[in-house]
Amino acid sequence: LNRRLAEFGTTIFAEMSALALSTGSINLGQGFPDTDGPEEVREAAVRALRDGRGNQYPPGPGIPELRTAIAAHQQRRYGLAYDPDSEVLVTAGATEAIAAALLGLLEPGDEVVALEPYYDSYAACIAMAGGRRVPVTLRPRDGAFRLDLDELRAAVTDRTRLLLINTPHNPTGTVLTREELTAIAALAVERDLLVVTDEVYEHLVFDDVEHVPLASLPGMRERTVTIGSAGKTFSFTGWKVGWVTAAPGLVAAVRSAKQFLTYVSSGPFQYAVAEALALPESYFTAFREDMRAKRDLLAAGLAEAGFGVFRTAGTYFITTDIRPLGESDGIAFCRALPERAGVVAIPNAVFYDHREAGAPFVRFAFCKRLEVLEEATRRLAKLR
Ligand code: PMP
Ligand code: GLN
Repeated sequence: LNRRLAEFGTTIFAEMSALALSTGSINLGQGFPDTDGPEEVREAAVRALRDGRGNQYPPGPGIPELRTAIAAHQQRRYGLAYDPDSEVLVTAGATEAIAAALLGLLEPGDEVVALEPYYDSYAACIAMAGGRRVPVTLRPRDGAFRLDLDELRAAVTDRTRLLLINTPHNPTGTVLTREELTAIAALAVERDLLVVTDEVYEHLVFDDVEHVPLASLPGMRERTVTIGSAGKTFSFTGWKVGWVTAAPGLVAAVRSAKQFLTYVSSGPFQYAVAEALALPESYFTAFREDMRAKRDLLAAGLAEAGFGVFRTAGTYFITTDIRPLGESDGIAFCRALPERAGVVAIPNAVFYDHREAGAPFVRFAFCKRLEVLEEATRRLAKLR
C-alpha cells in the first residue's frame, strides 16, 4: 500500500458491518435502508435487463434518458437549468463522483477546505488526488453542529483550490442554512474557489427545514460541482447510480477522470433511475415523512437510554453524545456496543482529523424498519 493511502486502513463501514454480522447485532452503523425502494422502479430495472437496454456499455456520460431526467429534476425542484448533454454526468454512485471531481480538478499540493467531521471517502480521495485537506470543524451549538464562518474564512489560503461542502451533512444531520450557504458562496466568489457540494441527502430534510443547493446562489453556478445519488433518494444503495451537474468545463474535467476510473456506469439501472426521477411529488413527500417518523422514534429511544441527542434536520443519521452515559471514547464504545447491547453504531471520531474533537460522538442510522428501531431502543435502554 502506498504512502498516500496507508493512513486510511479499512473503511469503518466494512469493519462495523462485519461486527454486526459476526455478533448478530442490529446494524445502525452503515447507512443503508433495510427496505428497498419502489417496486415500480425495480420493475423498470427488470424491464431494461430483459429488453436488452444497457446490457452492453452505455454511453460514457450516461444514457440520454437519465441525463435528461436529472436535468429536469434540477429544474423542477430548484429552478436550475442544466444542459443534459454538456452539463450532466452519470457516475458509479456519488462515491465515484467525489473521486472523479477531486482527481479531475485538483493539482498536486492544492488545498481543499472541507467541513469536519467528513464522510470518510473525502480524505482518501483528496489524498489520491495529491491534494491537502484543511478541515474546518463543525461544533455543537444549541443542540446541533454548526459551522463557524470566521473559521471557514480563516482556513482559506492562497493555495486553496476548492471547498468541499456537504449538506444535508453526514454524520451530524446538520442542514446548512441559506445564510450560511450565502456566506460560503460569497467566500468562494471573493477568493475565486471551486466548490464541490455533496447533496446526496437533498430529499431527506425534515420539519420546516429547506435544502438550498449551493449552485442556486448568485455567482455559484459556474464554479460549483453538485453531486446527487439514487442510492439515497430512492433507497437503492446497491445500484451505485450517482450524478454530477455543473458547467460544461467542470463536467468535462470530472468526466476526464471518470472515463479512466469506471469508463461507464451500470446500464440497466440507469434506465430505472431515469423513471424514478420522474416519480410524482407524492413519492418524495412520503419518503421524507417515513424517515421523519423513524428519526423521531430513534431520537426518543436514544434520549431515553441516556444519550445526549443532537437534532437531525436532514440525512438519516443521528449524532449522539455518550458523555451523559459516563463514557468519553466513541471508538471504544462502538467496539464494545455489540457485546453490551447487540447494536452497532459508528464512532464519529473516524470522520475527523482532530480526533479529540469527535471523540465523544457516536452516529446511529435510522433508515430501518420501525420494529427494528424499537428493538434497538429496547436493547440500548440496558445501558443506563
Ligand atoms: N456522500 C455522502 C455524504 C454519503 O453519506 C454517501 C453514502 N453513504 C455517499 C456520498 C456515497 O453515495 P453512493 O452510495 O451513491 O456512492
Ligand atoms: N454513506 C453510508 C454511511 O455513511 C454508507 C457508506 C459506505 O458504506 N461506504 O453510512
